[in-house]
Amino acid sequence: MASSKKKISYFYDPEVGNFYYGQGHPMKPHRMRMTHNLLLHYGLYKEMEVLPELANAEDMTQFHSDEYIEFLRMITPDNQHEHMRQLKRFNVAEDCPVFDGLFNFTQIYTGGSIGGAVRLNHKLADTVINWAGGLHHAKKAEASGFCYVNDIVLAILELLKVHSRVLYIDIDIHHGDGVEEAFYTTDRVMTASFHKFGEYFPGTGHLQDVGQHQGKYYSVNVPLKDGIDDETYDHLFKPIMEKIMEVFAPDAIVFQSGADSLSGDRLGCFNLSIRGHAECLKYMSTFNVPLLVLGGGGYTIRNVARCWTYETGCLLGRELEDVLPANDYSEYFGPTNTLHITPSNMENQNTREYIDGIRDRILENLSKLPARPGAPFYQVPPDLVSAQTQDMNIEPDLSEGEDRGGIYLDYGKNEDDFRVTKNVSEPVGTNPQGKEDAEKDMNENKEKSQELPDKDDI
Ligand SMILES: [Zn+2]
Repeated sequence: MASSKKKISYFYDPEVGNFYYGQGHPMKPHRMRMTHNLLLHYGLYKEMEVLPELANAEDMTQFHSDEYIEFLRMITPDNQHEHMRQLKRFNVAEDCPVFDGLFNFTQIYTGGSIGGAVRLNHKLADTVINWAGGLHHAKKAEASGFCYVNDIVLAILELLKVHSRVLYIDIDIHHGDGVEEAFYTTDRVMTASFHKFGEYFPGTGHLQDVGQHQGKYYSVNVPLKDGIDDETYDHLFKPIMEKIMEVFAPDAIVFQSGADSLSGDRLGCFNLSIRGHAECLKYMSTFNVPLLVLGGGGYTIRNVARCWTYETGCLLGRELEDVLPANDYSEYFGPTNTLHITPSNMENQNTREYIDGIRDRILENLSKLPARPGAPFYQVPPDLVSAQTQDMNIEPDLSEGEDRGGIYLDYGKNEDDFRVTKNVSEPVGTNPQGKEDAEKDMNENKEKSQELPDKDDI
């Protein structure tokens, strides 16, 4: 991998590990602190620029509705009982609970993603990592699947200010529904999601969902079954991505590296090793296109920290010793105390015929695309976060193109092409399997205190 000379920025806010979704909730921001600590002890931290960044409400309303963001700002565990109607309306309950510091948490993870996009826009970095980001389920005015603000959509919108085409890749085990929906009708963003499909949250991501209007064939869905292993995943991922890079030729890539597709995930049912998972990211980094790498799901948190540490090393071109260095969370990594994990002997339900059929169908769809759609710019909009701290090598022009009431993208060759829409919305499964699993796990998991690591996470 020719990545060792690339300039890498890494967003990390030490506060992020303090947020707590609640007793028994599988999403644990503590995993970001474990990841950070592990890569610190591998010596990776000093090879990257480390930046914190907070998004503000105005940044978030580039995609989300004003009412929804205002609600996230004001809601607290103490006042939530006075806002039952809004809690229901915005789906803030159960999977997406109100917790202390909720809005601040969204500011941190979103700030890293938008800030990362700004750095790529200004060519201050070739690759940006924000493991706290990647919350792909959030909708315009609705929380979903542990996600409140969709940092990915906001980062892509920021990238589109100076990049004509952005490719979004999602290897989380769950379908990247919030991102797909936001860009379902545009040819400037291609989304490619590899996910478990069938009786599984969020229920979307069918092979035949390919995008609409201008965006037809710019949404790629790869529905998979339980137990997929490294070899089978690789057999799909590389040919599809090679074809996408050929026909779409993106000038920026956003990679959601959800770690719930690893073997042994608390909510997942795939069987990837960390090397198999990382191979996807390594492959995409070989194209030398500006790359924003985000986290996402991942609920066996010792393996999340292992995976994202290893992937940080891959991006830096560093080989990491399999024996873990001493770190603050060593008790999580026993008894093996190794970086890598061994996949299980679970059955791989993805037969060769099934995988070949999917791959052929997707390659056929992609072959229908016109080569490299053009997208001339009439003006470059101003940055969102951190505009004041960047070297401005792009002059914003504010003379025209103020808000026309659309959600986004009023600066391009044709506003209809670029407008982010929410008009394609499949019904989401009412009680998907993933949620049932989560609830089952929650019941089995009696946690005592937010200060202590969960027993089943060690
Ligand atoms: Zn997930």
